[in-house]
Amino acid sequence: MVVGFLQSKDPRCPVSDTSIKKFLKLGVQMTLENELGKELGLHLDGADHVSYQDRTNVITKSDILYSTEPLAPDELAAMSEQSILISFYAPFNPTNQMDTLAGVKNEVYSMDMIPRTTLAQSMDVLSSMASIAGYKAVLLAAEQLPRYFPMMMTAAGTVKPATVLILGAGVAGLQAIATAKRLGAKVEVFDVRKAVKTEVESLGGKFVEVEGSKDDKDAGGYAVEQTEEYKQKQQEKIHERVSNADVVITTAQLRGRTAPILVTTAMVNDMKHGSVIIDLAASTGGNCELTQNNTTIVHDNGVKIIGDSFLANRALIDASALLSNNIFNYVNTFIKEGALHIDGENEITIKSRVHPPQNN
Ligand code: NAD
Repeated sequence: MVVGFLQSKDPRCPVSDTSIKKFLKLGVQMTLENELGKELGLHLDGADHVSYQDRTNVITKSDILYSTEPLAPDELAAMSEQSILISFYAPFNPTNQMDTLAGVKNEVYSMDMIPRTTLAQSMDVLSSMASIAGYKAVLLAAEQLPRYFPMMMTAAGTVKPATVLILGAGVAGLQAIATAKRLGAKVEVFDVRKAVKTEVESLGGKFVEVEGSKDDKDAGGYAVEQTEEYKQKQQEKIHERVSNADVVITTAQLRGRTAPILVTTAMVNDMKHGSVIIDLAASTGGNCELTQNNTTIVHDNGVKIIGDSFLANRALIDASALLSNNIFNYVNTFIKEGALHIDGENEITIKSRVHPPQNN
């Protein structure tokens, strides 16, 4: 059986020396599209049963085909019968390319649909990348802020520590708290999920309380839309904390919807000159009203707003290593005794299949 990997515009490499060794132990052959990994200095074709081939060969000869980016319609049509495609189709995202799958005969699986369960943790690419992004967001902010992060007592005077406000304490937010604390900043955190308060406090963050939030135990750990009354109270509290902060890192997402606006223009107007906002939710609309995706803007009052949801790519080597581990762990669930095996009872397989649609 052949497991094939395609190149994408995405700079992360989906295979590593380690993941290739693990695949080979399963008794499969591997084909990699020419140049895959070479930009990162990886030379992956040393072993028997691993070969570099052109894109068409990889598409037509693989039983399990992986591509970080969705395939073009003619490429989908060229896949061999019975083979499966593993990619990222983000069906909950309004910009998804699900319509390109209409009429496709092969089964298609989307790694962003893997359930956020304990069993699936080792395959959870969203968490791997969010964690790196949270870390890099803090380093970027520290670099851009025209101030120190830690308190400094010097002969020339004492410098107060910077205050970092983190909005959203999911995977990225928690990593951002830990990183900002290590750099000596004062860290304040807000999240609609009250459940994260103890986690925030155990990392040394101060949890900003707003009474009356709504949790939904059926939402799989994700935040849910809040009442208007709660949103009003939340806005007032966030306004107060944003005006006081030197750095604001926003990570709040609502699965399947545009990101909630947490930082309004009025709040930015009240921030100090030189303060920095890093918006990790930029690609789904942003948590700051002024955010422009993939752009850095400087507001009239000198506040810098950086809209970037792909900060994980700034740690390309580790992002690639974690991605390739996640992919191996997921693809492994499709291999039994060296052959393609689709386990119709496996919750991870069922939930991550995006084509044919689940109701067919
Ligand atoms: P996410 O990217 O969907 O959102 C980031 C954070 O923003 C979340 O904590 C969310 O509550 C918060 N948020 C949303 N709206 C907000 C608002 N209006 N104001 C303030 N904060 C707001 O979250 P994520 O990092 O993907 O994690 C989602 C959940 O899944 C979490 O409960 C996380 O612990 C859980 N999770 C579980 C596993 C696992 O068990 N395998 C893995 C990863 C994440």
